[in-house]
Amino acid sequence: MTIKQNFLLLIAGIAVVAGCKQNSKTEQIDKSISADEIKSQIAVLAADSLMGRKPFTAGENKAIAYISSQFKKAGLEPGNNGTYFQDVPMVEITSKPSATMQITGGKTPISFTADSDFVASTRQEVLGVELKKSPLVFAGYGVVAPEYGWNDYAGLDVKGKTVIVLVNDPGYKNGNPAFFKGDTMTYYGRWTYKYEEAARQGAAGVIIVHQTDPASYGWKVVQNSFTGAKLYLTEKDKHMSRCKVEGWITEAAATKLLADAGITGDIRSIARKKGFKAIPLNREISLGVTTKLKYSTSHNVIGIIKGSARPEETILYTAHWDHLGVGKPDAKGDSIYNGAVDNASGVAAIIAVAKAFKASKEKPQRSVVFLAVTGEEQGLLGSEYYATHPIFPLNKTVADLNMDALGDYGSTKDIAITGKGQNELEDYVEEIAKAEGLTTVGDRKPGSGSYYRSDHFNFAKLGVPALDINNGSISVANGADFGEKRQKDYNENRYHQQQDNYSDRMDVTGMMQVAGIMYQIGTKLSNETTFPGWKPGSEFKAVRDKSMGK
Ligand SMILES: [Zn+2]
Repeated sequence: MTIKQNFLLLIAGIAVVAGCKQNSKTEQIDKSISADEIKSQIAVLAADSLMGRKPFTAGENKAIAYISSQFKKAGLEPGNNGTYFQDVPMVEITSKPSATMQITGGKTPISFTADSDFVASTRQEVLGVELKKSPLVFAGYGVVAPEYGWNDYAGLDVKGKTVIVLVNDPGYKNGNPAFFKGDTMTYYGRWTYKYEEAARQGAAGVIIVHQTDPASYGWKVVQNSFTGAKLYLTEKDKHMSRCKVEGWITEAAATKLLADAGITGDIRSIARKKGFKAIPLNREISLGVTTKLKYSTSHNVIGIIKGSARPEETILYTAHWDHLGVGKPDAKGDSIYNGAVDNASGVAAIIAVAKAFKASKEKPQRSVVFLAVTGEEQGLLGSEYYATHPIFPLNKTVADLNMDALGDYGSTKDIAITGKGQNELEDYVEEIAKAEGLTTVGDRKPGSGSYYRSDHFNFAKLGVPALDINNGSISVANGADFGEKRQKDYNENRYHQQQDNYSDRMDVTGMMQVAGIMYQIGTKLSNETTFPGWKPGSEFKAVRDKSMGK
């Protein structure tokens, strides 16, 4: 059976494939990767009994037991020296900010309310931290980017101070596509970077101003993602090199604070002006955060098909199994964040791909590794742990193929490549797309920095070419508007909310399409001897060249 036939069978659940004769072999494959199976996997993984699959909970135990049993059933060998699990040591820090944030130094003190105006937490592994009249500085985008001649911290000593910074980067809506990649978010635009840079500068506190458009998500997402218990990989220095307080403030509260300090007008255009210099606000911030610490071990799940000719070289499939657990009840009393799309879909897809590999007559020459990672929702932790503690060496890892939050609105005529323009794996997508009569598109919202927002990023950071694809917006059955509308609906009403539930009405044919393409790419890579690389201009090319001894 050719790869092409195999792929068509993979998507047979969605399309009438003319001329494909059914024999016993094809029936077997068809059965092992049918739409029904994808659906039933999601139904199990997103069931209420798994309680939102939060690491360290009973939901984790159930989720990883189920996934490892599915790996075993698919015929995968244990991927970590005889076991399907990789321990991921973490610390859970439950931060509770003081009820209010006090701003002093102006005519009248200002008080902001926790949750509705700001969120604040710490990752220092201590029982509590406090900012006591810490001087406030508006540090623009909080970016140090030598390649763009940009330094928001130039000539600034922020020791003991708290910086207020904007989300995204100076290129956003700047009108110049060459400057910080224009509206495409660079890593400098990510909140993780803002926290890292403020810590490198020695600031005591860092507070990001939330704005829906440049962040690409609403305040609700900030509230849900940055309050309560947060998980981190444990560090030798107990994260004492991080800022004491890391937080976000609403745009309305920030506007009030900045106006009180004499800064009015569009803060983004002020901060992206060439030669912008950080502005001391002559105001101080007082805010405390108490913590509860819990050390625990979460788990990645890993299975392998050993290569027949070059087993030491690996193709890696990744999908995160975790989600947000149980939170506040919504209006209907639903408190479980089931994460059906995010990311039961991706786990279902890698299980389907594993089964397709095992069912294929052609045995892969390179090893194929399936890795369901923990802690993605808490900051891509499981993939960071694997990438920094790899079981199979990264310089022999040919590619990471990642699937996260696959669309449930059916198959599409276009396939979206996250962070399009990064590496040669995209050429494989193009080739397959062309053969299947599909087109490829870039990020739906290049400004949202999607390439830095899922597990493939931790592999990219260390040089492994990493690919993440999803369905585009042009629905095969219902036209362009449909895909567009359904994506918008998901982002507004289900993404990271209690409503990301499994439903019988889910159309998983788009998921089959994406899984099918990923399967084809993996099959091709597993039988090649070459290593695809990064495209010129990619920020990840240098590290790969170095690790490959180039
Ligand atoms: Zn998510």
